[in-house]
Amino acid sequence: MDIVKIDNLIFRYNDNYVFDKFSLDIKEGEWLCISGPNGSGKSTLIKIITGLLKTESGVFVCGFRVNHRTLLNIRKNIGIIFDNLDNLFVCETVEDDLAFTLENLCYKPDEISRKIRKIAIELNITNLLNKSIEELSGGEKAKVALAVALIHNPKILIIDESLSMIDEEERTNILQVLNKKHKDGLTIISVIHDLRESFLADRLIILNNGEIMLDGKPLKVMEYDKILNRLGIELPFETELSIKLKLYGLLDEIIPDVEKMVDTLWQ
Ligand code: ADP
Ligand code: MG
Repeated sequence: MDIVKIDNLIFRYNDNYVFDKFSLDIKEGEWLCISGPNGSGKSTLIKIITGLLKTESGVFVCGFRVNHRTLLNIRKNIGIIFDNLDNLFVCETVEDDLAFTLENLCYKPDEISRKIRKIAIELNITNLLNKSIEELSGGEKAKVALAVALIHNPKILIIDESLSMIDEEERTNILQVLNKKHKDGLTIISVIHDLRESFLADRLIILNNGEIMLDGKPLKVMEYDKILNRLGIELPFETELSIKLKLYGLLDEIIPDVEKMVDTLWQ
């Protein structure tokens, strides 16, 4: 089943058309990454899916047509992390922020504390609950943002370049959590800058000027290195190396992991 369906979307800011007959279907349980140059329409697309920007075109999320009447239903099914982690938090402490999210969705107090405990254990942030946002490191902020996004058990998680600012190790941790949630059935739509973030995903699309330039399995898409370079999208070092080795007949397939690549070459 398609959990997101966008049919011939037309969207403009004043005279600037961002999308002109744009269509995209996302399957339930899919982990989709979206990349593309600045200004290609990634954030606009996310805002249209979440109902933050209005359109007359056919946009369907979890079977509901996105409009002001369905907005609460849609919000209950979606968790979002926006690009600026510092703007995410409104309350004094992490715990208050988690509670605030649930209060907005009309959960009862006992249910709120139960859900906070559950997500804190799952994401390993119990020790952060009483901290204020200013005390957190970048990676901790990202984990709390993830907790805020997932606390109401949404069907879809949407991430808009939120992991770009955190260090490699923290990012790997978060990606492992996402991988686990994806295996449990969560649909993930993540806008990414670094294509490495798509290695665990099912599908990668490349947007340019509001059009899909490439669409497929992440490693397949990365084989179109000339198109990506032309759009100014950098390939991960290990992928680029792997593509070259494949070109010279030294590898049968692209292996985006340097250690595995070396093992394969030695075989
Ligand atoms: P991306 O997230 O891929 O960088 P955006 O969706 O932010 O792209 O932007 C797509 C286009 O829409 C760009 O040309 C951008 O300048 C324009 N745009 C984005 N937000 C606004 C806005 N609030 N008002 C007017 N134009 C906007
Ligand atoms: Mg953006």
